[in-house]
Amino acid sequence: MKKYECTLCGYIYDPEVGDEDNGVKAGTAFADLPEDWVCPLCGAEKSDFEPVE
Ligand SMILES: [Zn+2]
Repeated sequence: MKKYECTLCGYIYDPEVGDEDNGVKAGTAFADLPEDWVCPLCGAEKSDFEPVE
């Protein structure tokens, strides 16, 4: 699964790690994150993330 980077602060969402602090289990693809999920560091919306090649 692809990692996604926050274009505002550089936070990397890694599907293998998830975002447990915000209720996102490890193994959750970026596309499967809830629409109201935001960057845990800066609060940016999903649309502010880009795939990491
Ligand atoms: Zn961010």
